[in-house]
Amino acid sequence: MARKIIAGNWKMNVHPAAGVDLIKEIATYCENTELKGVEVVIAPSFLELAETAQWVADKKMSVAAQNCSEHNLGAFTGEVNADMIQSTGAELVLIGHSERRQFFGDTNSVINQKLKQALRVGLFPILCVGETLEQRQGNQHETTVLQQLEEALAGFEMHELENLTIAYEPVWAIGTGETASPEQAQTMHNFIRVSLGKMYNASLADETSILYGGSVNPKNANDLFGQEDIDGGLIGGASLKFESFSELISIGVSVLA
Ligand code: PEP
Repeated sequence: MARKIIAGNWKMNVHPAAGVDLIKEIATYCENTELKGVEVVIAPSFLELAETAQWVADKKMSVAAQNCSEHNLGAFTGEVNADMIQSTGAELVLIGHSERRQFFGDTNSVINQKLKQALRVGLFPILCVGETLEQRQGNQHETTVLQQLEEALAGFEMHELENLTIAYEPVWAIGTGETASPEQAQTMHNFIRVSLGKMYNASLADETSILYGGSVNPKNANDLFGQEDIDGGLIGGASLKFESFSELISIGVSVLA
């Protein structure tokens, strides 16, 4: 069975001091809540990674980096590699978020290299895929996502992907307040699962956690998380406030567990 995950992506929105306060609140909430196997993850900036990872150690949650370099070591000013991330105590890493694809040149082949680096050091990758509005309007959403999957996962053997999570995030729904309908999301999640089944096998497809991301909030989470192929959420805006994020964890526990 696929892991059930509620993950928050803080992007570049939280100052380190505020981040540590917020992580303490969330960690305390998780400690005092019966999570029934639902995993809670927060992706702060690199600056807060080590401190937040220390805070959540032994608590019922974990932290993720928002990105990692496709390189190992070397003259790559401003970059942070997978070993460095792993040394902070972070357990996961987001790879190929649409903002990285859009603003920082993360092509599918760069994303493939980043996945290799993450898996080399034992970080659990959350691979983000999703189509733009233009691609959806042009009925290209399935071909776009399939190409993202095939090129990102090129060269990987099935046993290397046991700890892979995928986040389906339609670009037109990220930070826009517009959400895919539960039916649209379910159709794409099922498409991703079936595609993984064809690329590998049914057991990898069933066991891969596929999260939905794109303006998830406490009002729409129930319907989204209730879909058969949705194993949780990758949440931006609504992860920035304790009230909305804890409500989403609570919805996740009641619907996903
Ligand atoms: C995201 O950052 O991955 C995201 C889905 O953001 P939001 O929830 O704000 O749309």
